[in-house]
Amino acid sequence: MTKQKAGCLSVFLPFLRLFVGEEKEPKKLPYAKRDDFLSPSEMSFYKVLTQTLGDEFIICPKVGLKDVFFVKSRDNREFTIYNNKINRKHVDFLLCRPDKMEPVLGIELDDSSHRRDDRLERDIFVDDVFNAAGLPLVRFRNKQSYALSEIREKIENALKQGKEYTSSQNTTETNGLQQEVPICPKCNIPMVLRAVKRGNNKGKEFYGCINFPKCREIREIEGKV
Ligand SMILES: [Zn+2]
Repeated sequence: MTKQKAGCLSVFLPFLRLFVGEEKEPKKLPYAKRDDFLSPSEMSFYKVLTQTLGDEFIICPKVGLKDVFFVKSRDNREFTIYNNKINRKHVDFLLCRPDKMEPVLGIELDDSSHRRDDRLERDIFVDDVFNAAGLPLVRFRNKQSYALSEIREKIENALKQGKEYTSSQNTTETNGLQQEVPICPKCNIPMVLRAVKRGNNKGKEFYGCINFPKCREIREIEGKV
């Protein structure tokens, strides 16, 4: 929301409340702040991660899978099924590159609950989601103490594999450029013709993904201005 819009909203909010029938003293909503945002084991692992990788990455705890992934299918039924599957799940930690906050790796801290059948099924699904999207995921066993070098090594190896995956994806996408309407390499669906709205290149046409802004893949059209 822009500052201007937010400002307007705060001016009109009291009137809006009257309009929707709320009394002057609105009923307090039944929410309270949780005291267990991170469990003690998550907290101690977070500290270890900060010590090991805090200078290079932003470490986000408890990130909803729906904030990291999207369903690329355009089929309504399939979209709903797979969107619901990631709707209430989260990954314990997400490493992001600080410049663009681009997610580069997920981390799961497995405690004894992960041996339960329902957790196992959930873990396999989460592994598959990361795998499908080409984002590395590493799992660590919950321990009393951690060897920092071991953690760094495991994460660096996973990051390397993630990079290899991305470059292999990029090779396939250039092969698809021969067609008239390019296929989005990420979503595997035909792209759509768009035009630059602002700036020096205003009016210039290009192909963009129909899933924009969740997918920002574009293909330039040579010679078209
Ligand atoms: Zn796409």
